[in-house]
Amino acid sequence: MFICRFTHDLRLEDHAALAAAAEAGPVLPILVLDAELDQSLRRSPRRAAFFVAAVCALDASLRERGSRLVMRRGDAAEVLTRIARECGATGVAWSARYDGAGMQLDETLRAQLEEAGLQARLVHDAPAIAPEEIERSDDGMGYRAFQAYFERRRALPIPSFDRPLLMRFASAEIESDPLPQPSDFGSNAALPEASSSVAAAALEQFLSSSALLYATAQHVPAEDGTSHLSPHFSFGTISMRVAVRATLQRIDDPFLLNEERHSLRLFLRSLALRDFFLQLAWFHPETQQMALQERMRDFEFAQTHPALDAWCEGKTGYPLVDAGMRQLAQTGWMHPHVRAVAASFLCFDLGVDWRVGRDAWDRLLVEDDPAVATGNWQWIAGVGADLAQYPRIYNPETQARRFDPEARYIRRWLPELEHAPLATWQRKREETPMLPLFDGSAYPARVVDHGAAARAFLARYRERVS
Ligand SMILES: Cc1cc2nc3c(=O)[nH]c(=O)nc-3n(C[C@H](O)[C@H](O)[C@H](O)COP(=O)(O)OP(=O)(O)OC[C@H]3O[C@@H](n4cnc5c(N)ncnc54)[C@H](O)[C@@H]3O)c2cc1C
Repeated sequence: MFICRFTHDLRLEDHAALAAAAEAGPVLPILVLDAELDQSLRRSPRRAAFFVAAVCALDASLRERGSRLVMRRGDAAEVLTRIARECGATGVAWSARYDGAGMQLDETLRAQLEEAGLQARLVHDAPAIAPEEIERSDDGMGYRAFQAYFERRRALPIPSFDRPLLMRFASAEIESDPLPQPSDFGSNAALPEASSSVAAAALEQFLSSSALLYATAQHVPAEDGTSHLSPHFSFGTISMRVAVRATLQRIDDPFLLNEERHSLRLFLRSLALRDFFLQLAWFHPETQQMALQERMRDFEFAQTHPALDAWCEGKTGYPLVDAGMRQLAQTGWMHPHVRAVAASFLCFDLGVDWRVGRDAWDRLLVEDDPAVATGNWQWIAGVGADLAQYPRIYNPETQARRFDPEARYIRRWLPELEHAPLATWQRKREETPMLPLFDGSAYPARVVDHGAAARAFLARYRERVS
């Protein structure tokens, strides 16, 4: 018997750790709620609810196969060693984490299990292709530039870990703590639909419809046409390998129009971005807390700003930034393009440290992806993998005019502006800093002047890099 320790891989299909455990005999499925997982779930109430729903669904799938999920709270090494002794398991397989702190915990656990005489099989499951499988650049530290990574990755086959015939589950007679509830993590959020069947149906639905318009949807937030799969990838209710294979298959459809095929290729590129940031963190675990670019490590970003609360609350006076922040607060998710604009605003207009922004979003996002969050925040802040000479500073008003020209997205998330005519805030703000609205409330004035703030930041940046 071998233990499969579930972590952020809450499914049975195409599962690398399950396949590794099943090679050694019947599998005992276990979930350990340790301090680190507990803290991450406590930070975001919607994340806790998603996790609970996915855990319950996993348990139900196991019960259909005559087993069940054994749930225990406590220190992972102690719990796993005790259970292995109780039921005669010879080892533990589990999926690797990619953030510096998680990687360290994985290595410690591996050492503790081996010291206890157990086999420890730590496997790559989250990325479609394991970091080491992609030929490394000269310094042996993985790819620092996305385009080169993407080109190399495209040439590789996507592995599969679907081994239904191998899979035998132990009929777990062993004691289990009750499955978690959102309230265990201080959350009263309603349980969302989160399971491997929901994720598979969402992917199928997306690939048959919205994915064909992804070229537009990835930039136009009002369309709400991106996949919304990020929480599923984050908690592993679907594997990235399945998503990539299904997309490749869809691209082969001979009846697609050129634009549709182009959209699907862009979606594949988005999927690869996730793998890219995971491998970046894998080879550079120190970047969880420090910039990838050595020259930017001591660049002074501020730790706060008088308008930091306004940014968090969606009250900066820049409608696209505010709409994004309110979408995040109300749903636990934000449209990808708006994420870039809102993050750029924090780093450049307010000059605030990317780590402050990342940690603020961590308290709101359903996703629990420290490595992906860090990679993106560094990219936006101009201190990470983007090798452009200067950071791309988004003008939040130009972006709104270009990608939300009728303000459909802005109006959806900013009720104060629902009935305000477009021109009122798009062109005349200089003359009317506090915009009076029909119900007596007011949309706030801009907290900073974008043009002046961006120029001041660029001057400091230029000094550093020249
Ligand atoms: C500042 C900033 C912070 C971010 N933080 C996170 C985070 O904490 N967790 C997270 O999963 N994504 C993060 N992203 C990436 C991206 O915005 C989200 O993955 C995307 O919004 C999720 O929506 P979707 O599933 O509809 O994406 P789609 O556009 O449908 O893309 C499909 C999938 O591709 C992957 N993907 C797409 N874009 C990226 C990207 N830039 N980086 C990595 N993977 C990507 C995601 O897994 C996503 O689910 C961040 C982006 C920015 C700019």
